Parts: sequence; C-alpha cells; structure tokens
Amino acid sequence: MLKAQCDLAVPEPEKLLTLFCEHYSEYGMVRRRGAAAGHVTISYGRFALHAAGERLSVRAKSPHQDGLTYVKMGVVHHLREFMGDKAPPVRWLGDGQAGGTPSFWREMQVVESFDITPSMRRVVLTGPRIAELADGSLHVRLFFPPKRRPLRGPVLGEDGCPVWPEGEDKLTPRVYTIREVDAAKAQVAIDILRHDGDTTAGSFFAVNAKGGDAVGMAGPLGDAHPAFRKKFFFFGDETAIPAIDRILRRLPAETQVHAVIEVANPSEEQVLRSDAALRVDWLHRDRAKTSLADAAAKLTAEMLGDDGYVWAGCEFADFQAIRRHCRKALGLKADRHHVVAYWRKGARSD
Ligand SMILES: Cc1cc2nc3c(=O)[nH]c(=O)nc-3n(C[C@H](O)[C@H](O)[C@H](O)COP(=O)(O)OP(=O)(O)OC[C@H]3O[C@@H](n4cnc5c(N)ncnc54)[C@H](O)[C@@H]3O)c2cc1C
Repeated sequence: MLKAQCDLAVPEPEKLLTLFCEHYSEYGMVRRRGAAAGHVTISYGRFALHAAGERLSVRAKSPHQDGLTYVKMGVVHHLREFMGDKAPPVRWLGDGQAGGTPSFWREMQVVESFDITPSMRRVVLTGPRIAELADGSLHVRLFFPPKRRPLRGPVLGEDGCPVWPEGEDKLTPRVYTIREVDAAKAQVAIDILRHDGDTTAGSFFAVNAKGGDAVGMAGPLGDAHPAFRKKFFFFGDETAIPAIDRILRRLPAETQVHAVIEVANPSEEQVLRSDAALRVDWLHRDRAKTSLADAAAKLTAEMLGDDGYVWAGCEFADFQAIRRHCRKALGLKADRHHVVAYWRKGARSD
C-alpha cells in the first residue's frame, strides 16, 4: 500500500471535512466518525480526514502509484473548489514525490487510423504498459499536442498535481473509451466520432492521425465494468458505443440485454457482439420520432425486475432526463444505475 499525507492550515476544518464527505458520497463510500473524522473510499484508493484545532490532516492510500496520484489530485482539486483563493498551499509527504513524470503519463504513437463508419474513425495507438489497459476502468484521457509541436508531458508538483506545459506546448485533453486492447501487439484502439466539420480537437486529431504521430495518454480511468446482473438496459449515442460494446463482450449467456442506441442515420450503426441475449434498437437522429430520453422514459419498474441495471452514456440533456427517470420515477439506488454525460451541446469538454 502506498501512502502520503498532508496537513492543511484552515480556519474551520470540521466544516471543510463535511464538504469533502458530502461531495464524495456521490462517487464512493464515505464513513463519518463524529464531527472531526471521516474516511472516503473511491475506485482509486482511499483517504482519511481528521480535524483538530485549525488544521485538517489528510492521509491518502492506494495500492498503486496512479491511484495515489489521482487520490491526491482529487483532494487538492476539491480543496480549491471549496475554498477558492483562500485554499492553503498543499505539500504532500510520503510516496510519489514531486519533480518526476506522473506515473499515469504515457507517450503513445499512432499506428494507423481508418473509418469504421462514415463518422466514426478508429485510431490505433502503441505505447508502454498496454496490458494494463485491458482490465479495470474503461476509459483514457488523450492529450493532443498543438499542431506542428512535439509532445511535452507534465511533471509532478509539490501539491501532488501535475504541472502541465503552457503556452505553445499546451496540450488539449479529451476523454475516450478503450475499444480494443491487443496486448500481444502492444496496441490499443480508440474510436473517435467526427463532428462539427472536424474543427474540434478530437475530430481534427482523428481525421489527421497518421503513423508515428505522438499523443499523450493517461489511464485507464473512470468507470469500470458494472457488476453482473440478470438484466441490463443500455441507452447511449455514438460516443457510448465503444463502452457499451466492451461491457457487452464480457456479459455471460444468462444475461438479458436491451440496448437503445441513437446514431445519426443507419450508416452509423455498428455490429455489437455478446454472449448475452441481446436486443439492440437503433434510433436514427435524422428521422427522430423518438429521442434517447423518450426511449428511456418508457422503462418501467416491472421491466427492470428486482435486479435490472440501467447504464447510459449520452449528451447532457439526455443524461439529465434519464438520470431523473432512474432516480425519481424508478427510485433506483446508486447500485442499480449508472448514467453519465459524455458531452454537452455547445460546450468544449476541456
Ligand atoms: C467517459 C467518457 C467516455 C467517452 N468515450 C468516447 C469515445 O469512445 N468516443 C468518442 O467519440 N467520444 C467519447 N466521449 C465523448 C468525447 O469526450 C466528447 O464528445 C468530446 O467533447 C469530444 O471532443 P472534441 O474536441 O471533438 O469536441 P469539443 O472541443 O469538446 O467540443 C466542441 C463542440 O463540439 C460539440 N460536440 C462534442 N461532442 C459531440 C458529439 N459527440 N456530437 C456532436 N457534437 C459534439 C460540443 O458540444 C461543442 O459544441 C467520451 C466522454 C466521456 C466522458
């Protein structure tokens, strides 16, 4: 187990501790021990908070280096969110010291890129430690270097957070799903949707990627495969097809799956394979009789049964409607649904 700790000088440590506990209860398991102590467990590791006098001490632990870095980064990020300009400086002691390259950083090279549908482009990458990408979390963050600049990565600061290159070497980060891993060839395939005339960072990278181009990568990160259930209901658009496909490929024959996937038109449909009993309904945006959120609203408690699970990845407005339906109309607790916004109309996902 790797460990690090920091002491924060703050005027109202118990209030801050409460903010951390309330916020993290959305993402992990929080145990509160009276007003002055709390323990948070998330997928990357855990941290304990103790308030005393005008100090909040944080003890972070994780079985692996990336996990410890992410736990530390999360603590610092939220500290700054909660306290703004008044956030005290942070200096972590213990494992994962400042100055080096963060363990999560990989320099990848493009092997090839090609269209798998008119708008979905597969980019095959090679780089270090590819086998690690096959299990656990489903996603990665790619970092695109500016045009005609070499790729420069981050270094770890004393606050445990990466210091990213600025100015002419500033990177553009975007989250994508690992569609396929070929550990024997040290290759990973990422499917990127082309949109907005390929003017956006992700689309531009996908359409121009050629053998030997460098791109940064962090991960695997984010959500993992959901626990097995008898019934799954999936709702997604093009951006969620890679994640739905990866989850489907692991489901056993005794699982029943109903997936509703919205794509631009029939030419954007993809072949999905699973041992599970699989029904896929494709919605075509160009004919648009039913939206993804409308389709999800038809889901009833009876259809779900006592262990059915809802998974959704889509645009923000659909995400809001589907999550509302799951929580308010169906009364599903966190262990029965996973609904995430993959992108938001009109907003760059920086
Ligand atoms: C966990 C997770 C996994 C993801 N996996 C994938 C994946 O495997 N493949 C994939 O293609 N995407 C995936 N996405 C979505 C992707 O990160 C976003 O679509 C991202 O905005 C693309 O970056 P961009 O540079 O192309 O556009 P941005 O610069 O972020 O946005 C520019 C403009 O394009 C619009 N825009 C962004 N995405 C779309 C879209 N899908 N359709 C129409 N307009 C859009 C924005 O609203 C904005 O107006 C994932 C997102 C998350 C959170």
